[in-house]
Amino acid sequence: VAVKTPLQHVPLLSKRLANKIYLKREDLQPIHSFKIRGAYNKMSKMTEANRSRGVIAASAGNHAQGVAYSAKALGVKATIVMGENTPSIKVDAVKALGAKVILHGDTYDQAAIFAQEVARENDYVFVHPYDDANVIAGQGTIGMEILEQLATEPDIIFVPVGGGGLIAGVSAYSKAHAPQTKIIGVEAEGSACLSAAMEARRRVRIPFEELDLFADGVSVSQVGREPFRVVKDLVDEVVCVTIDEICAAIKDVYDDTRCIAEPAGALAIAGLKKYVAARKTNGKSLVGLVTG
Ligand SMILES: *Cc1c(COP(=O)(O)O)cnc(C)c1O
Repeated sequence: VAVKTPLQHVPLLSKRLANKIYLKREDLQPIHSFKIRGAYNKMSKMTEANRSRGVIAASAGNHAQGVAYSAKALGVKATIVMGENTPSIKVDAVKALGAKVILHGDTYDQAAIFAQEVARENDYVFVHPYDDANVIAGQGTIGMEILEQLATEPDIIFVPVGGGGLIAGVSAYSKAHAPQTKIIGVEAEGSACLSAAMEARRRVRIPFEELDLFADGVSVSQVGREPFRVVKDLVDEVVCVTIDEICAAIKDVYDDTRCIAEPAGALAIAGLKKYVAARKTNGKSLVGLVTG
């Protein structure tokens, strides 16, 4: 159900930054984000008995659409719990796919706790957005496509980080098949849960009051258990960017592609620019994931 998205060379940004830059266009998936990869992989591997129970998910939006789309494709009943701050474009998209929507809480964590209660009461299967091996493997197919689509292995792949499922899948595949390719995680300053965990060498939780919601797709207070187990030895570095840097990257993506990325969707490009400026990286082949 997921499409093999283009890996697009971007001439304007490449020229300005003096590197060969490619964008992986996950905004071109049927639900306009990569989340369909993990959700469908997970749900297609569920037993028939579990599928007939129905599924439930909590989501800032894109995972919800991935689960709703996959549920429709597989003929499974889906319920989605979303935070009350979820943009209406995402709520409407989930409803249009035939899923039931419950709006609850201000953050992903509050929605997730409530979704687990509803799951217990109704015997639904909970589909986690990142803390699940089959979800991680589905997101990892992006890494497989990138290595197939480039004639030579890229020097660096920049990956945005929320709960860490995407970077876990991409880094696991990439380090197995192209060990010399660096994997750089990119986080929003206001939700830098992987940076905090790398520094502390264990998962830490960012207090709710300190969590920034601008890049809503990656606004997660604690990196997932399974993602952190996978990435702690595989990710070469994590870069943090400001809201201004994210906004500038949205424009850069637009100038080359005419795609308007959501904040989380342009996050990796903001990190790519910051990394290149700090390291004076020159003449390298760099891939940035445009995730939604
Ligand atoms: C979910 C999401 C991410 C981050 O993925 P994780 O697996 O949570 O790290 C990045 N960008 C967009 C657009 C997303 O929806």
